[in-house]
Amino acid sequence: MAGVPALETAGLSKRYGARFAVDHIDISLPSGVVSGFVGPNGAGKTTTILMLLGLVRPTDGTGQVLGQPITDPAAYLARVGALIEAPLFYPTLSGRRNLEVLTRLGRLDPTRIAQVLEQVELSDRAHDLVRSYSLGMKQRLGIAAALLPAPELVILDEPTNGLDPAGIREIRELLKGLTERGITVFVSSHLLAEIEAICQHLVMIDKGRIVFQGGVDSLLAAQQTALIATPEHAKDLPALIALIEREGKEASAEGESVRVQSNADWAAELNRRAMAAGITLSGLQVTRASLEEAFFSVVGALRAHGSSPGGEGGLRPHGSSPGGEGGLRPHGSSPGGEHPGEGVAPFPDPASGGD
Ligand code: ATP
Repeated sequence: MAGVPALETAGLSKRYGARFAVDHIDISLPSGVVSGFVGPNGAGKTTTILMLLGLVRPTDGTGQVLGQPITDPAAYLARVGALIEAPLFYPTLSGRRNLEVLTRLGRLDPTRIAQVLEQVELSDRAHDLVRSYSLGMKQRLGIAAALLPAPELVILDEPTNGLDPAGIREIRELLKGLTERGITVFVSSHLLAEIEAICQHLVMIDKGRIVFQGGVDSLLAAQQTALIATPEHAKDLPALIALIEREGKEASAEGESVRVQSNADWAAELNRRAMAAGITLSGLQVTRASLEEAFFSVVGALRAHGSSPGGEGGLRPHGSSPGGEGGLRPHGSSPGGEHPGEGVAPFPDPASGGD
């Protein structure tokens, strides 16, 4: 992950009227990996991407893509492939013909067409009309178009939008394959679970502000684990909860099981203590927060720390602990952090009212 950042921003902002769509964000993206850009609908992902591609003028701040300033997109766009939301193609032309049109318009190497069709596994459907393509095939053709210039960096805005699980899996595999060829991928999604499996690095945004950026591992490691214990006999559940609480642990019933906020290494102890109390466990699992839970945990903690949760529809911490325990530092308060901007930004003013 080391090396020159593929892209960087400093205080990058976009204001529409009184509202900041993107509010002074500092991003630093490692080269050669898949970085996820995640946040709920309306968080500012598309606006950020449009600024990085020189398609929207920032209100404030600066940025560099592949070492070139975003004020001069001509200096880097030839090395960047982009797919912004649903790709637009001529429905009455074949996939191949559409790519030919793009190579002509962009003065790109036409020998790339066969290569990119192969890369996205569309070679055998290349001569079919685009109107006969499934949504997943259209998305793959969009990625093929983004790959035409043989880019060093590929920026994809919600490439899995509207796809079924099989389509999502195909796109994931495709993106993984790109980094194996040395291409840096920056992919946005409002569904963390969709990209959890492929990202090594994450930039999380909420209401225009960065709430976390860094390695996926460091985010997950900072999340609390829980134990799920199931007594063989449901009647033992209250006694099991009481036993756990006497040990000073937080326990709550979940169906016929109990969830214990605890590190994984307490599992054996719990098993021993339950047995000593005459309670047999028929199940004992260690659960780790998913990326989605981690996001809600971080955002929930920031909002609790700042002010009210604001009116963003559908944002609700689920199963999350009240705070990312250790590891996640408030943005700007980290003493001597090696990675500037890594950690959690304070979340003081969720401009009341959502989108
Ligand atoms: P989604 O996941 O729904 O695509 P997003 O994270 O990409 O969301 P943006 O599309 O960047 O979010 O929008 C961020 C905010 O900026 C939203 O409140 C949106 O309504 C607002 N916004 C975006 N473009 C404009 C515009 N041209 N004029 C006014 N407001 C805008």
